[in-house]
Amino acid sequence: MKMSRKQFLRTAGLAAGATLFPVPSQTQEVAVKSKSAPRKPSQPQLVAKRFDLNLRHAWTLSRNTSTVKNNVFVRLERDSLVGWGEAGPNVRYNENWESTLQAIEEARPIFQKEDWRHFAAISDEVMRTVHHDSCAKAALNIALYDWVGKKMGVPLYQMLGLDPARTPVTTFSIGIDTPEVMQQKLKEADEFPVYKIKVGLKNDEEIIRAIRQVTDKPLRVDANEGWKSKEEAVEKINWLATQGVEFVEQPMPAPMLEETRWVRQRVKLPLIADEACLSAADIPKLAGAFDGINIKLMKAGGIYEALKMIQLGRSLNLKIMLGCMIESSVGVTAAAHISPLVDYADLDGNLLISNDPFQGVKVKQGKLILPKGPGLGVTGRV
Ligand code: MG
Repeated sequence: MKMSRKQFLRTAGLAAGATLFPVPSQTQEVAVKSKSAPRKPSQPQLVAKRFDLNLRHAWTLSRNTSTVKNNVFVRLERDSLVGWGEAGPNVRYNENWESTLQAIEEARPIFQKEDWRHFAAISDEVMRTVHHDSCAKAALNIALYDWVGKKMGVPLYQMLGLDPARTPVTTFSIGIDTPEVMQQKLKEADEFPVYKIKVGLKNDEEIIRAIRQVTDKPLRVDANEGWKSKEEAVEKINWLATQGVEFVEQPMPAPMLEETRWVRQRVKLPLIADEACLSAADIPKLAGAFDGINIKLMKAGGIYEALKMIQLGRSLNLKIMLGCMIESSVGVTAAAHISPLVDYADLDGNLLISNDPFQGVKVKQGKLILPKGPGLGVTGRV
């Protein structure tokens, strides 16, 4: 039978996706069978709700300030097992909690009809069905992986064949504030071996000088698209190179790719793409303009797409960083489970809030410590 172009692309996509998910070991398969053998899966339940996360300090980037984040949580339940997921809607990507809830509704029929153990096929179908609010896709995908891990009885890192001892250290992020408050924030985060400093406003040099008065630890700098001319970017980055900075994230606005390529040829520090790199489709054009990419589950649409991005980035010789939005321990723990695959982690969103309803990944002297429970291994509820 002749295959249409559309059918061919769909089949090819599923085959490529399948390589990202190792076949579970014998023991895991037995665990699944012994629990559910001839019984049909019970009726699925998908509940999505908004929950507001309060920031410890007002969170200022080059583009805005916030004190509370309206995140959306997903609860998937079937066979007496619950999978948790989280969406951190971001105004930069035209997302808010209402549009995120709407996107989750668009995907609901997929979860009613499919067997959740077929999580690769479901992940693909969600990506094809929902065309806005990638954070909604991330929430569904994280909840699905949590549920499947619990069904198999293994932690997510084990489901993916990863060694939990290979997690990287995470930076602790210092949002823009007065130099005095930024110094105070650094003192509160004394256990971290490396910091990420937000810049991109007019007082960048004043901020870095103030920070250098209180610490000589390595710094990573994030301009969040704050420098609008290529000359300004070159000048700032070459000055930062004299200040113990390891790399600079997203120096210029995402669409200014040619200007960034020009900047990269004139600076000594590596450049990492964040706002310019949302999903795998963005990556090929970034090679040559950036040295690495910052992957976030919320931008990518979940763990499934993030794994593809890591593989594609590696094939193009890009350094891989894993970041997060302001998220609870659900979103941050999900990212931490795939962190053994990356070079740099910036997974501190849960540490920046004061009312985290969940517990999961911990940080010891900056190193990410993964929970050992099945799925995400998080405890708590909303
Ligand atoms: Mg960034």
